Formats: sequence, C-alpha cells, structure tokens
Amino acid sequence: LSPVPSDLEISRAQTPKAVEVLAKEIGLLADEIEIHGKSKAKVRLSLLERLKDQADGKYVLVAGITPTPLGEGKSTVTVGLVQALTAHLNINSFACLRQPSQGPTFGVKGGAAGGGYAQVIPMEEFNLHLTGDIHAITAANNLLAAAIDTRILHENTQTDKALYNRLVPSVNGIREFSSIQLARLKKLGINKTDPNALTEEEIGKFARLNIDPSTITWQRVLDTNDRFLRKITIGQAPTEKGYSRQAQFDIAVASEIMAVLALTDSLVDMKERLGRMVVASDKNGQPVTAEDLGVTGALTVLMKDAIKPNLMQTLEGTPVFVHAGPFANIAHGNSSVLADKIALKLVGEEGFVVTEAGFGADIGMEKFFNIKCRASGLVPNAVVLVATVRALKMHGGGPSVTAGVPLKKEYTEENIQLVADGCCNLKKQIQIAQLFGVPVIVALNVFKTDTRAEIDLVCELAKRAGAFDAVPCYHWSIGGKGSVELARAVRDAANKGSRFRFLYDVQLPIVEKIRTIAQAVYGARDIELSPEAQSKIDRYTQQGFGNLPICMAKTHLSLSHQPDKKGVPRDFILPISDVRASIGAGFIYPLVGTMSTMPGLPTRPCFYDIDLDTETEQVKGLF
Ligand code: ADP
Repeated sequence: LSPVPSDLEISRAQTPKAVEVLAKEIGLLADEIEIHGKSKAKVRLSLLERLKDQADGKYVLVAGITPTPLGEGKSTVTVGLVQALTAHLNINSFACLRQPSQGPTFGVKGGAAGGGYAQVIPMEEFNLHLTGDIHAITAANNLLAAAIDTRILHENTQTDKALYNRLVPSVNGIREFSSIQLARLKKLGINKTDPNALTEEEIGKFARLNIDPSTITWQRVLDTNDRFLRKITIGQAPTEKGYSRQAQFDIAVASEIMAVLALTDSLVDMKERLGRMVVASDKNGQPVTAEDLGVTGALTVLMKDAIKPNLMQTLEGTPVFVHAGPFANIAHGNSSVLADKIALKLVGEEGFVVTEAGFGADIGMEKFFNIKCRASGLVPNAVVLVATVRALKMHGGGPSVTAGVPLKKEYTEENIQLVADGCCNLKKQIQIAQLFGVPVIVALNVFKTDTRAEIDLVCELAKRAGAFDAVPCYHWSIGGKGSVELARAVRDAANKGSRFRFLYDVQLPIVEKIRTIAQAVYGARDIELSPEAQSKIDRYTQQGFGNLPICMAKTHLSLSHQPDKKGVPRDFILPISDVRASIGAGFIYPLVGTMSTMPGLPTRPCFYDIDLDTETEQVKGLF
C-alpha cells in the first residue's frame, strides 16, 4: 500500500498461520514444540540430538553502520532478507532475532520486530512479554541478589554453630548434606560426607562465605528504563539491623543471566554457567559464586523454559526464532547460540540462517565474532552491513537527529555532499568487518526521501571501499520482493567462502585485548584505565579470569566513547572507567567513559502513544 501504513496496522492486517502449521512446514515433530497461544511456540532442545548428523546451512550476520538514535533498519533488513530468500528465491531460511526489552519499547526507540512489510508478527506479542523469558531472567537474577545480602546478614548475626545448624538442619534426628553442599565441601578440601564429623574449624569454614560487601558486583535488575535506580541504598528497614549498602539496578537485558542464556548450548552447560557466576570476593580475595550460595539449582529451575527458543513468523510466513535479547552497547548484543544452532540444522545444507547483531558493527558485530562465535564454534559466511542515507548524512555533518523531533530538510531533500562526506563511517565499518575475514555486502535500506543519485553514490562508494557488493533494499515498502537483489548478493557472497578469524587471542592480558579492540576497531590512539578499572583487572587476573574475551560497554552513537562525535573520530584516548567480570557468561566487561547500565526515559517517552482499546482489546501505538 502507498503510503505505507503503520507497522502495527500492517502486522494486524495479516493473519499469521497457526504455529503448528509453521512448525510442521519446517520439519518439527509434534512433541518438539510447546505452544503458547496461537502464533508462538517454544522449541525443545531434543531437536539438536535428532538432527545432529544434518549439515549446517550458511550463517549470515546483519550488522550496521553507526546509527542515528532512530535505528537504521537492521531488524527490518534481517526480516526482509529472509522473506526474499524463502518466498522469492525458494531457499530455506530462518531469521534469528533478539527479544526486545521493554526499556526501549516504552522509552525512545520502540520495538524491534522490523518494520513496514518486513516484520515479525504478531508484533504486539513479539514486543511485549513474548513467552516470559525476560521475566524469568529478572526473577533468577534477583533471587541471587537476595541470596547475597541475606547471607551476609545471617553470617553477621549468627555464630558458626548456629549457621551450620540452619544450613544443615537435623530432620527427625538425621542430618544430610545436599549435593550442592557436598560440592562446596569438596571445593574447600574437606573430604567428609557425614555432617556430624566436621571439626569446629571446618564448620566455620563451611558455614561462612565471608563475602566482602565492598566487592559485590552482582546487581539487581528490572526491564524498565528507570534511571532513579542507578544508585540506591538497600537495607534501610530496622529489620536489616543497619546492614545497608549502596547498590544499583541494571536493565534486565544487560544482566549476566541474559548473556548466559544467549551463549549457552545446553541445559547442562547453562546450569554450569549459572553456578560459575561470580558475585563478589570473600575477605581473602577469593571469588564467591552462585554455587557457593547454594542457588544454582533454583536458578536453573527458573530458567528451564527460557532456554527453549521461541518460534514465530514473518509477514510472509517464513520462520523466525526470537531468543535472548542483550543490548549491544551495554551487553554483548546478540541473540542466542541455541536458536542459531537449531535453525542451521533446520534449514539444511543449502539453506540460510540470518541473525542480527545490535547497533553498529563496531560493537554488535565485534562481539558477535569475538564472543558469540568463539563460544558457539560457528563460522559465519557473510556479513550484511546496513546503511541509510539519513545516517550517512548525519556522519557527513548533518544536523543532529533526535527521536520524536521531525527531521531537518538536510534529511528530506537531496544532499550529495553530506552523503559523500558521511560515507567515511560506512567505509570504516566495512574495514572493521574485513578484519574478521568475512565478505561484506552493504544493504542500503531505502527511505522514500532518498534520491537515485544518493542511492547510486552510496553503492558506488561502498564497492570502492571493498564491499563484495552493495545494493539498495525496498523490503520496508514492498516486502521480500524488494530485497531479492540483496538476497542474491548474500547467496553469492556466502558461497564464495570466508576466511574467518578472531581479532585477538584470548590468552593475551586483559589490557592488551581492550587496547586491540580500541585501536583496531574504534580507531582510538590508546586507552586510559581509571584506578578502579586497573585494580579490578588486577583482581580478575589474579583470580584466574584473565583469559576471557572482552565485552565492551560503549555508546552505540559513535565509534568513540563520545556520542556526539560522528563520522570517523580520530586521535582519541578511550577512557575505561570500570571493569566487571561475567564469569558464567564468559567475558570481561569494561565500561567505557560514562556508560550507564540502566537507561533513562526521555521527556516524551513512547508510552505516551501506547494504549489499549478496551472494547477490542487491541494494543495501539506500538512501533
Ligand atoms: P534497527 O534494528 O537497526 O534498530 P529497525 O529495523 O528496528 O532498526 O527499524 C527502526 C524503525 O525504522 C522501525 O520503526 C522501522 O519501521 C523504521 N524503518 C526501517 N526501515 C525503514 C524504511 N526503509 N522506511 C521507513 N521506515 C523504516
């Protein structure tokens, strides 16, 4: 239709096929799905065992140039590309997307189901609770947070003996260690299984974790942009007897449990990762884990359904997995390894799996390669780099782009000079992708205000910068048939073969790995560590965590740490203000500059437009 209706109107005008039908079409057996409502199903992991001898399909990543705050259409391109591959080129394909956080959905950016005629449907279900995975993550995360502070309180207010008697209670005169407690005894080097046989010293060692409150790195989380929780004081009620301390909330999608969900490859592995998560150090400087707190089993129970990928469909009825949703700026920015692995089996050797890495290639894609592919062992065949004329004009010196404020005329009228100048960002992002040895196809997501001359210029400059191909895409306005040229280019690039390589060796010292990313990817002259960052790096190295990959928390609005520096900033020193460790997820997590792990709301958030028609029960105002 012209003009193109709103994302929600388009989504609602299409009746999705029943999810059982979709599941059957893609070769799932009836007992491999768990249906939620009419158009969503969870897929059981047993499928991986059944298909273990099936060869994988081709693996394609969609990344982008440095975006405007409005987003440049990576999700839209991902969906448009699979619609084109499946419905128009007759190639089996799957899109694997992240579940959106309710932070942006009600905040600035809106949902993430794609847009126009390239969407996942029903978009309300996609953008709101889906099947509850983020709620499960929040519950698990906060159970662990509660376990930490409560344990400190109990240790501080009870003798060794009293603690021990409560931790190993006598039931009908019989005391028994639980399996978690037996594992803890083993870790402490106490080779006893009879709870009555421990010496007084062993009882003290067993009963006390001796957490040093000043070293607690585990934060509470919430899936809401609530900036007033960035720094809080907990434990102020008289019942906590003065054990108050400063703490903070992070947004749920930046939590380590979200990263664990995204990086795990089985239930057994998830349980091990959850148990390994380090929450603090003890008073001797030794790491304290979720396992030490006895909570691993409970966390696994809370996450047992979340681990199953969620099956949905595009507007053109092709399959989509929606699973895990870490942000790319303050987390690792990629959907789950499990969804990708299952989809790669389901599409068959000739098929394609297209997955999306959040924000610009400098962050989402870098983490896709260095963290996700390292964890999964999967080798990508091609990268699609999404660009828009509007973002390129911004990089070329155009006025700032703000959500909710109409675009200035530089963006709505032809301006060849701004586009030409802004292509420096596109060129740099192509070069970043090439560092990993994978062919790059530039997808120019065309808006109705783009002119022929602007489109041709971007494609020409992209090819000159080394892209395998560069094509305009029209899926937003006409669906999959508008991206057939992109689909052909991706097919050809993927068949050409990639020479994939990681950017750094994980055995390098933490500082060297951070410096490599800062210099080779962001273009920084060097890095500068705060004393806090340095002491954390020393602590993690000493605790034996120095050989993990790096997950930088950096603004997505610039290649540098300063959101207002567009184009290709040069000669800057990247400030590392703090460093955290996500041992269960398996990465070290440096915070760049003033990066906050809890976003805030703008003056006029998206929620102003969101409403429910109480008669029809239809949601209004989502985009
Ligand atoms: P990203 O994944 O890069 O953040 P999205 O795919 O979510 O971006 O798109 C952001 C918003 O822009 C969506 O609301 C989408 O409908 C809109 N959009 C994307 N492509 C176009 C286009 N070609 N024309 C108009 N609007 C578009």
